[in-house]
Amino acid sequence: MPTRNTGYSFYCHMLPIQDAAALMQTPKKIFITTHHKPDGDAIGSMLGLYHYLVKKGHHVTPVSPGEIPDFLSWIPGVAHMLNYEEDRAAATQALEQSEIIFCLDFNDYSRTKHLEALLEAATQPKILIDHHLFPKPVWDYGISLPGKSSTCEMVYDYINICGDNQLIDTDIAECLYTGVMTDTGSFRFSITTASVHEMIADLKHKGLEHSFIHEQIYDSWSANRMKFLGYVLMEKMEIMPKYNAGLIALTRKELKLFNVHTGDTEGLVNYPLSIAGIRFSTLITERGDEVKFSFRSKGDFDVSDFSRKYFNGGGHFNASGGRSKTNFIETVDNFKKILSDIHPR
Ligand code: 5GP
Ligand code: MN
Repeated sequence: MPTRNTGYSFYCHMLPIQDAAALMQTPKKIFITTHHKPDGDAIGSMLGLYHYLVKKGHHVTPVSPGEIPDFLSWIPGVAHMLNYEEDRAAATQALEQSEIIFCLDFNDYSRTKHLEALLEAATQPKILIDHHLFPKPVWDYGISLPGKSSTCEMVYDYINICGDNQLIDTDIAECLYTGVMTDTGSFRFSITTASVHEMIADLKHKGLEHSFIHEQIYDSWSANRMKFLGYVLMEKMEIMPKYNAGLIALTRKELKLFNVHTGDTEGLVNYPLSIAGIRFSTLITERGDEVKFSFRSKGDFDVSDFSRKYFNGGGHFNASGGRSKTNFIETVDNFKKILSDIHPR
């Protein structure tokens, strides 16, 4: 019997996603967006849905709230996507002229940063597809399943619910595989269910070349990124066996010194968890006008609850994020104080 993170949905405040099909019987102008600092699941699900809806005859504009990491630059459909930070006028116009809005892989408008106010003001029907805990009650239709590995898996399910499995081509398969792979840590996290493997088998039958995607995402580092990783592990990783915890805290100056690009810090937070006995890992980075947290855990320590309680964040049971507006040094001190107070195990 699953005890956490699985099997329950939050239909209560929105109509089931199946009901939204009635809105899309004829070609519609559709706006799709995802969270700021998008990862593989965010971009994969957005573009997977984009390809599918285009095949259904709709006019679709996918909009990322900001820059996408270099390791996703190859993904099919990326050329059709707008970056709100660069194409503000076109993205705003697409939102205003759209008849339906899809929101993927986030559960609170604030996760889209600059798009928050526009989404709040928009009166078109809004549809959510997401797997984070505790969605805000602001969507008209949707599906929220924290037991799902990824939003990409949910887009796959959505296409199947619509009876359109045969429309899944290699572009859609590559997009959806990307998010499932990245959100499951290459199929190793406990959230990787039999349904995930069944989905991947179906994508393989449809012609997916999975090794191409692994190469694009994991074997496309710059030499600089690899050296930065070396520096981080050698000089910056703090292991605190007393709390079964690991911490990496990086200042703005260090990120600049190593010319760190969007996406170069992806995965850093996982390293401490590869050390025997470490069950809670934190990455703190000084970015823009705030300090950003990434939390990961193994087993029973709920980092979604931890980040919601202390760092204005949220996410999943074993992977979450948060932020602080106080300065970097005080934030790191405060984090260590909380660690000593709560003594995670
Ligand atoms: P990451 O550490 O990769 O930035 O985020 C880990 C997970 O937590 C992702 O699923 C992400 O969407 C979610 N997350 C990250 N930051 C926040 C936040 O500030 N608020 C909420 N609600 N979720 C977050
Ligand atoms: Mn996700």
